Amino acid sequence: MRILVADHPLIAHKLTALRDQRTDSPTFRRLADELVTLLAYEATRDVRTTQVDIVTPVAHATGTRLARPRPLVVPVLRAGLGMLEGMCRLLPTAEVGFLGLVRDEETLVATTYASRLPDSLAGRQVYVLDPMLATGGTLAAALRLLIDRGADEVTAICLLAAPEGIASLQAFLTNDTVPVSLVTAAIDERLNDQGYIVPGLGDAGDRLYGTAGGSLTMSGPVSAPSQLR
Ligand code: URA
Repeated sequence: MRILVADHPLIAHKLTALRDQRTDSPTFRRLADELVTLLAYEATRDVRTTQVDIVTPVAHATGTRLARPRPLVVPVLRAGLGMLEGMCRLLPTAEVGFLGLVRDEETLVATTYASRLPDSLAGRQVYVLDPMLATGGTLAAALRLLIDRGADEVTAICLLAAPEGIASLQAFLTNDTVPVSLVTAAIDERLNDQGYIVPGLGDAGDRLYGTAGGSLTMSGPVSAPSQLR
């Protein structure tokens, strides 16, 4: 897995404000949105393009357009939704899929509860949005699903990552040949006993959206992704 820690003073500034526990939800949402746009700039450095001929008011010219099939952006619900606008600002023509994964707070194992993705991702560059790479369980489940559907290349964009999560993802991907990249604003010190990133920024979903509704409840058995496509 290729890892890029985006090193820029504006990224460091916004991340510091995100970490601060005094930052309220509206400010947190705005900062996360801005930070993702900056990360997206780095993450899309290898987005596929094609040459096009155009005519300027002065002359013929050869230019660049995003290639087809369009890139696919996949926010991991719930907290990844807070990153979607910031990503689409930079890639407005991208298609958007959705993936709902919930982490069992005791076992830390991630389960898919919703999936809205094209049946085949063959030939697609996919950008997964998940703010916190903690144990790596959620991202590993998301990557497995995307790779199994034929994604050509996957880039995970995370606001923060923990060394433990990176190591576990690297181990998880050892037998995969699909290129996977991680773009993050920082790699923090460690995870605590509850699986939170230290120093981190707390629960990203709660800080974006508050704690309304408490924990996720299912109205029926957990569905296989294909049943919800
Ligand atoms: N998820 C979060 O929202 N925060 C963490 O620190 C770890 C996982």
